[in-house]
Amino acid sequence: MFVQENNDSGNSLSHSVIWKECLKQIKENVTLMTYNTWFLPIKPLELKNSTLKIQLPSNFFWEWIDEHYNTLINRIIKDILGSGAKLEFVIKDDPELDFKSKPEDPPRKNNTAPAKAKPEFESCLNPRYTFDNFIKGEGNQLARAAAGAIADNPGGTSFNPLFVYGGVGLGKTHLVQAIGNKIIKGFPEKRIIYLSSDQFTVEFVEAIQSNKINEFSGFYRSMDVLIIDDIQFLTGKEKTQDLFFHIFNTLHQSRKQIILSSDKPPKDLKGLDERLISRFQWGLAADIQPPDLETRIAILKRKADDYGMTISSVILEYIATNITSNIRELEGCLIKLLANASLNSKEISLDLAKRTVKEIATDRKVNITIENITKAVCNYLNIDENKLRDKTRKKEVVLARQLAMFLSKELTKSSLKSIGLNFGGRDHSTVIHACSAIEQNMLLDNSLKDLVDALRTKIEISST
Ligand code: ADP
Ligand code: MG
Repeated sequence: MFVQENNDSGNSLSHSVIWKECLKQIKENVTLMTYNTWFLPIKPLELKNSTLKIQLPSNFFWEWIDEHYNTLINRIIKDILGSGAKLEFVIKDDPELDFKSKPEDPPRKNNTAPAKAKPEFESCLNPRYTFDNFIKGEGNQLARAAAGAIADNPGGTSFNPLFVYGGVGLGKTHLVQAIGNKIIKGFPEKRIIYLSSDQFTVEFVEAIQSNKINEFSGFYRSMDVLIIDDIQFLTGKEKTQDLFFHIFNTLHQSRKQIILSSDKPPKDLKGLDERLISRFQWGLAADIQPPDLETRIAILKRKADDYGMTISSVILEYIATNITSNIRELEGCLIKLLANASLNSKEISLDLAKRTVKEIATDRKVNITIENITKAVCNYLNIDENKLRDKTRKKEVVLARQLAMFLSKELTKSSLKSIGLNFGGRDHSTVIHACSAIEQNMLLDNSLKDLVDALRTKIEISST
């Protein structure tokens, strides 16, 4: 036990020493994740008459700690300072929200004591994605402007949530991460996390299995900025949606910034809880359209500069005219052009550009294989891949098999014969039948069409 002097307020070190000792004991009593999430961000402010004043990052922290760890930390502080010891909580930057007892001094503001503390978790942002290297164009104007406003004032604009949607390879991931990267620079104390909705689901399932749902949900509720990419993959996952709904509400109520991306607008997310769809429309839903010719040229110019290539504008224009739908492909084309030129020690000529563009068009289909497609379909529908190759006629297996055949025909260059062979040596007429069954049913059943769209996106994303 520490011996506590009556008048220890003059000793500026003592509060941090005592808190360090508390932390040591807390660490022995909670999991590392709990410790990192809830206790490391706490700052000791002052020790006066056996009362240790500590500062919590947000109201939510206080509620969480009060509900889950009050007994523990009270026991520990009494162990250290004696039975008369007390804890006093203040909430950072919010004098209205002092708890337990009134502090004599207002809580310290962030600007007087800058929080230099590094966040104790990975934000998972890729520093490559910045606003600086994000080219503005008509197709992304609104989304780009809203993203910039949020980065300057996270949680403080009416764009909450920001919902960015658009096709594959148009810059959604780039833009939402650029927001995160700028916030890290401007507001180093903020807790930011980026992840895809798939990762979110995987972590959720793990949390269920290890009985850690409270910790899982608490971790995300403790964020200042939550960025979830490709939210469309939450469709059909009811339990995950339900938990996400509660996290969303907590964050939104305490004006934390939520940023989401999707391949389609909120109202088209079939299989997603209505409550979520309506919340996604509370802030701003901004689309990203494929770039126009000028923007494509600007993007190519910028990328060429970044790679240290000098390419004539005739060539850039040729590429931009011929690769139109997807920025990832524009990038891919430049890299390939560079590779072709250096491999064959050739100048980058219009002729070489023409050949490269042609190769890209062929590659588009080569990257996607029947195997990828089968995997994606089975994953999505939760079906054992082997079942697609054996004789099972169970309804859900037949559907999965037909979907995989249909997508193989659409997305690969494989012949009907080789598609059939890949599914347990079936005949090419079976493939034709499968394709027309899916085509016809899509006309009658919108949910099947949505399923095909979701699968197509998933396959395209995983193959690029
Ligand atoms: P999405 O998430 O919409 O599928 P990404 O954000 O992954 O697309 O973008 C694909 C590639 O194109 C990335 O390498 C990204 O940096 C680049 N890109 C997309 N939009 C732009 C833009 N406006 N300016 C510069 N590069 C871009
Ligand atoms: Mg993306």
